[in-house]
Amino acid sequence: MQIIDGKLVSETIKTQLAEKVLELKALGKKVPHLAAILVGDNPASETYVASKVKSCAEIGYNSTLLRFDAQISEKHLLDQIIALNENPDVDGILVQLPLPKHISEELVINTIDPGKDVDGFHPMNVGKMVSGLPTYIPATPYGIMLLLEYYQIPTKGKHAVVIGRSHIVGTPMSVLLSRNAYPGNCTVTICHSHTHNLKELCLQADIIVAAIGRPNFVTADMVKEGAVIIDVGINRIPDATKKSGSRLVGDVDFAAVKEKASFITPVPGGVGPMTIAALLKNTYYASQGEKVKLN
Ligand code: NDP
Repeated sequence: MQIIDGKLVSETIKTQLAEKVLELKALGKKVPHLAAILVGDNPASETYVASKVKSCAEIGYNSTLLRFDAQISEKHLLDQIIALNENPDVDGILVQLPLPKHISEELVINTIDPGKDVDGFHPMNVGKMVSGLPTYIPATPYGIMLLLEYYQIPTKGKHAVVIGRSHIVGTPMSVLLSRNAYPGNCTVTICHSHTHNLKELCLQADIIVAAIGRPNFVTADMVKEGAVIIDVGINRIPDATKKSGSRLVGDVDFAAVKEKASFITPVPGGVGPMTIAALLKNTYYASQGEKVKLN
């Protein structure tokens, strides 16, 4: 069994991007600039945005964090996005989700210039991804593809079971794993809360991607010997032994499942850091007027 070290792979990617920034600087060109919008004070969103902004600084990107309180009007938020669209210095725009209920996420995403949509959520970019065209791929599934590639994990002809069908993780993951290239060429089953025989499906899986948002949902009795386990979940559970009173766990019962897996991602230190690395890659491409080209 090998533990997939997302931290190591993400650091490798960040080092490569930092070198590209130095090259741009040496040529007197502008460095990539990511603008992040945070609405309200959801603690998880605060943490995610803070680490994205910090990672930009580490590799020499410029970043702008625009914070608004939860009462901001939809119109005012859209105006801010339009201003970023029109600002030639800004290469990538991300709006941290979820947004307060009175703001339409759909409208917000549709307002971002598809050429600056480094989260890859704009319908135009989603359409391109589904069509196999170069585009910005949503950061979490893109990060997972990079991990599969880094560890040279065989995917051709494998049965991949993706649990979760969100627009940000499960659905794009299923599209990418089924494409005709490496990593890909899997036979994909996508599961959700209406799936009846989840355990039986998981037991047939060579690769399981768990993106549910429920601690320890995937247990050892659901996993075939030698399966590859990608745990996307980030769940905070109470833990009296920790100073903070809680700790992070994934959607997979890591301790028991690792005994059966051939490869497994830990939480933290697996998919999470790769999501940031993939976002930074998308932002670099955006700054160069390019799109992501998976093999
Ligand atoms: P969503 O809540 O949007 O989607 C969860 C999915 O799980 C839904 O499709 C839902 O089905 C499905 N589901 C829920 N309960 C069950 C069940 N009992 N059986 C089968 N399927 C079920 O979550 P996200 O996709 O946004 O995120 C998933 C997890 O990944 C979360 O823990 C989140 O924090 C984490 N995450 C981690 C990231 C990272 O960088 N590591 C990035 C993004 C997310 P249905 O559609 O029917 O409701």
